[in-house]
Amino acid sequence: MIRSVLYARVSSKEQEQEGFSIPSQLKLLNDYALKNGLKIAREFKDIETAKQAGRENFNLMVDFLRKHPDIKTILCEKTDRLYRNFRDYVTIDDLDLGIHLVKEGEVLSKDSKSHQKFIHGIKVLMAKNYIDNLSEETSKGMLEKAEQGIYPSGAPLGYKNVETKAQGKTMRALELDDLKAPILKQVFLKYAAGEGSIEVLVKWAFEQGLRNRGGGLVGKAALHKILHNRVYCGLFQWKLKVYQGVHPPLISKELFDGVQKRFEDKNRPRKAKKHFAYSGLIFCGKCGCSITAEIKKGKYIYYHCTEYHGKCATPWIKEEALDIQFAQMISQIRIDADLLEPIKEALLSSHKDEFEFHQRSISALLAQRTRLEHRGHQIYKDKLDDKITEDFYNRLREECEQELNQIKDKIARHEEADNNYLQQGVRILELCNKLQSLYLQQTPLERGKLLRHVLQNCVLNDATLCPKWRKPFDLMAKGLSRSNWLPREGSNLGHCGYFLTPITWRVGLSLRHDPTNDFRRRV
Ligand SMILES: [Zn+2]
Repeated sequence: MIRSVLYARVSSKEQEQEGFSIPSQLKLLNDYALKNGLKIAREFKDIETAKQAGRENFNLMVDFLRKHPDIKTILCEKTDRLYRNFRDYVTIDDLDLGIHLVKEGEVLSKDSKSHQKFIHGIKVLMAKNYIDNLSEETSKGMLEKAEQGIYPSGAPLGYKNVETKAQGKTMRALELDDLKAPILKQVFLKYAAGEGSIEVLVKWAFEQGLRNRGGGLVGKAALHKILHNRVYCGLFQWKLKVYQGVHPPLISKELFDGVQKRFEDKNRPRKAKKHFAYSGLIFCGKCGCSITAEIKKGKYIYYHCTEYHGKCATPWIKEEALDIQFAQMISQIRIDADLLEPIKEALLSSHKDEFEFHQRSISALLAQRTRLEHRGHQIYKDKLDDKITEDFYNRLREECEQELNQIKDKIARHEEADNNYLQQGVRILELCNKLQSLYLQQTPLERGKLLRHVLQNCVLNDATLCPKWRKPFDLMAKGLSRSNWLPREGSNLGHCGYFLTPITWRVGLSLRHDPTNDFRRRV
């Protein structure tokens, strides 16, 4: 019997909806295991709440699988149950497992065809989108708090969180920490008065007994941040906006401004840090250090090894030279229009159960609509026949219309929900096709941003960039040929044993995969 693990997850939103519950997932997966001769070594379940989005059991499962290398199979209901982001995806991918996505009827492994992996990658992208929406919901709650003047994050050093009751609700609020607050106040005073640098104040505060949450020294960077934090004078910043807090201030606004002024005076002679388009994206192929940029002669941007591990032979390279190489790289990501349809179909079939659910709901709603329309006609007739009064007719008609509008809304929502899933996937695919023209229209800084979406990083070997793509762009950049996309029906050249793969099926422009080259050589 093949040993495997089982993973089930439900989010806070879904708990209220039918069919998403943990027991129903467990039942489905256990039935599947029984039918397919799989033995469940352990079950892992994550139940997310509005407060906690952590995935403790997902991490426990990963640990468990690392400790038991004989277990190579994982059972899960669907793609969006298993991964919440690309990090999860890469983690699972590294474990080299067979993944059974039971509801999608898909079994994935290292040996899967690249089109299968590709569709899987697209689904992971879509699952991520879903999570983004969810986190947006949470930040909405945070914003509401901020608007009421309640500091939305954990207590900063010098404060502690206390629970208070307001209007029958329990609220978290900030209160000054009797031990740390007076020391920090002195730090502000001393810094504003010019009594010592940050280094000196770090030492002084430590001697006075100031410790961080871990019981250690409050270092230079932490103290620097504290001295810049408005929260200590009763304000706070949330999402680029400054709010007046309801918490007690540690220092006056004047003192805070005095501290900021000293920082400004200190920093004035220095130039602002310049951001470069590709910094942080490239690593040195010779020594593994990161590649950094600087301006020469006031206008030329050069990239070079940081030489953090000592002298390095990788030559300096101009930004223009990198521009050309990155643009070439981006041009590799392309999906032929002919491939869009089969991919859409594959996405749709993986989405069959939701699709059927929406279809059922829509037909029920349509029946209801017909009934209501019929009733509308009936009351109109009754009015004409003088069976009902004008007033009564108007009231009935209004009720009827209201109900009808609600139903129309519901139908539209179902249709939208259904389309959204598909459109997300299709949008990703279409974006890939537009990538190159989008890229060329951008400013260098924006190009860098776009690159970070599709590239994990790049290695600079002498003057040549070698990309490490993010999934699933790696598959697109490699080039999917029809031969690993669909069975080669009709393409066999019979007795001579050659086969042709039409160019139209190619994804990408990689020459290595050009089947016409292949064919000519063989002929
Ligand atoms: Zn180097």
